[in-house]
Amino acid sequence: MKSPIPNPQSLPPGSTIGILGGGQLGRMLAMAAARLGYHAHIFTPEQDSPAAEVARACTVADYSDAAALARFAQSVDVITLEFENVPVAALAAIKNVPVRPGGGVLSVCQHRVREKEFVQAQGIATAPFAAVGSMQELQAAMKKIGLPAILKTAQFGYDGKGQWKIEREANAPPLHAGQEYILEGMVDFTMEISVIAARGIGGEIACFPAVQNVHRNHILHQTIVPAPITPALAKEAEHIARVLAEALQVEGLLAVEMFLAKDGRILVNEMAPRAHNSGHWTLDGCATSQFEQQIRTICGLPLGQPDMLFPCTMTNLIGDEVNAWETHLRNPRARLHLYGKKEARPGRKMGHVTVLSGSN
Ligand code: AMP
Repeated sequence: MKSPIPNPQSLPPGSTIGILGGGQLGRMLAMAAARLGYHAHIFTPEQDSPAAEVARACTVADYSDAAALARFAQSVDVITLEFENVPVAALAAIKNVPVRPGGGVLSVCQHRVREKEFVQAQGIATAPFAAVGSMQELQAAMKKIGLPAILKTAQFGYDGKGQWKIEREANAPPLHAGQEYILEGMVDFTMEISVIAARGIGGEIACFPAVQNVHRNHILHQTIVPAPITPALAKEAEHIARVLAEALQVEGLLAVEMFLAKDGRILVNEMAPRAHNSGHWTLDGCATSQFEQQIRTICGLPLGQPDMLFPCTMTNLIGDEVNAWETHLRNPRARLHLYGKKEARPGRKMGHVTVLSGSN
């Protein structure tokens, strides 16, 4: 049999992948890169980051440091990210090296109003929302959308940070001048689900199966694989992720978080153009991990199979939950992943454990 002709745009093993962000996603991405014979160079403002520990090189500088970004770009063959809140203007300092996903995708995904407008423009439902920049606009938005509602900063929020539930007009929080917000109607949901789509540089798309996400204190606690939903709903959720990845022309991954509303509709909550916490199970329960898939997409390699091999449950180890690491190691169905973070602060993601279903 003749071997297939390599994609002329593909980056050969031995090339260097630049990764913006030094957290646990960058760490697992660098490990996936190494497995396929690539080198990783991390760019992060953080000293001693989880990703730097497993990468060949690390630049410690601020994301807005255009000169440092330009030097970083000169030393790598392609740039990808584990963190989408990199200023788009700073990315403009990067010349002659592909950035995958590109600035256009980031600009949509890092701003909640642009993101929801984009989703609705594809004919896909979201919670009702309104952009808010002042107290008057907030008053008008509360009237239009109704209460209870959730006020969120339009940018830079994560794990419930920068979010306020408003039950009555009188307890609306004070707004910061110059800050952009979004007011979202409260969705009455039966379940939160997500789908991660991968889109290669030739436009091919592969979706990981839909999973259920259970949050505690606004932080992802567990991912249940597969999501306990009908095949028709799982197909619809995958279709939504596919349509959005195509519409955004993503080169890389697109994680799409959705609500399954009580009325049976699927509403998109948010998108992240990168590997996602709800995809960590793929390291142990899937034919291809999300991290390997991200490397494959940005290097122009054939996409891996996204098929689930084992039903499983991924649980985040937050703060001092990590102290139970030995118990997890004793469970023959459990696969433990620790991120090498020194201090187990409350709310901090220290690791995760995936327990494969089935008998021993
Ligand atoms: P987010 O940062 O937008 O992902 O929100 C964090 C979590 O808050 C979500 O996973 C939901 O559990 C909850 N949440 C956010 N927005 C809404 C909404 N419009 N309606 C109901 N729950 C929400």
